[in-house]
Amino acid sequence: PKKKDRLGVALVGLGYYSTDLLAPALQLTTQCRLAGVVSGTPAKLAMWQQRHGLPEANLYNYDNFDTIANNTDIDVVYIVLPPSMHAEYTIRAARAGKHVWCEKPMAPSVKECEAMIKACRDHGVTLAIGYRLHHEPNTQRIMQFRREQKYGPAVRATAEAGYVDPRKDHWKQKKAMGGGVMGDMGVYPLNAIRYGVGLEPIAVTAQASTTRPEIYTEVEETMAFQLEFPGGATAAGEASFGKRMNRLRVGNTQGWYELSPFQNYSGIKGTTSDGVALDAVVPNQQAKQMDDDAAAIMHGTPLLAPGEEGLKDTIVVEAIYRAASSGQKEKV
Ligand code: NDP
Repeated sequence: PKKKDRLGVALVGLGYYSTDLLAPALQLTTQCRLAGVVSGTPAKLAMWQQRHGLPEANLYNYDNFDTIANNTDIDVVYIVLPPSMHAEYTIRAARAGKHVWCEKPMAPSVKECEAMIKACRDHGVTLAIGYRLHHEPNTQRIMQFRREQKYGPAVRATAEAGYVDPRKDHWKQKKAMGGGVMGDMGVYPLNAIRYGVGLEPIAVTAQASTTRPEIYTEVEETMAFQLEFPGGATAAGEASFGKRMNRLRVGNTQGWYELSPFQNYSGIKGTTSDGVALDAVVPNQQAKQMDDDAAAIMHGTPLLAPGEEGLKDTIVVEAIYRAASSGQKEKV
């Protein structure tokens, strides 16, 4: 096939993130274009078709989704569904021969993450997870400090992310849809601790809680977790749908670095113990993420956040849930 200068992207699931963030970001990309949409809601398909000038043939629902295999306009399928649906749609997209971008959290279980990685490998397509911060320059700077051991090995990391979610009947509050704060917001402090420390944790303790038991009947509103790393470094993370928090701090043998906020859509900033200002500005995180991932596909270079990165978080998330329920320290 003739080489394209932009990859055609189909968004699957036209909810908040697709509508408010990804569709506008796609218009700012230089390597991608919105080529199609997949939705269970006919009125949304009609609206997106009109708003984005999409051909009828590039609109899909969840039943005819697999026929996307025959559509040469679409190179990448971007899964923006509730987490419980990520594995099924990633595997179906891989079988259709499309590259997959899948939103975080990759999937609720390790088993699903492994099946997603295998399906993409078997069908010769790439799998990127929507960890937008891996594409954010201030975050990349602290990843570089870690690789170069600029401040020495980590001793103690803390990370907290949370906001007040007013919704009462959303998938985030339903266990079967992949709800619960740990699988959703929780991957931000967990992933940040992992890139801040640069090691995989070996043991974990955790405490789930809620201040609104009438809403959070099946899942936790807040999760606190403590991690132990090989060599003795420790970390404490917290995620919540009930309070505002947004900070990452990593203390090392020879200094510290901090980002606050560390996970907003814009304005990530911070500093270090020797006064380095971490204040680079990226015009649009999601556009940068999609352009980076498209360039990796077009040039055959490594993805910044492949499926394996999502799997590593899910391994720890499972251990955190085990620890919260046992009340004991659990091995990862
Ligand atoms: P929404 O609930 O707003 O949208 C999800 C969409 O999925 C729905 O609008 C619907 O679209 C589709 N859907 C299909 N089946 C169901 C079902 N049974 N229940 C609910 N929705 C269904 O979620 P978000 O857009 O906030 O989140 C989607 C994904 O994006 C999640 O994985 C979330 O964690 C991630 N996300 C990532 C962010 C980031 O910064 N990287 C920020 C926000 C979210 P339709 O009607 O078209 O079928």
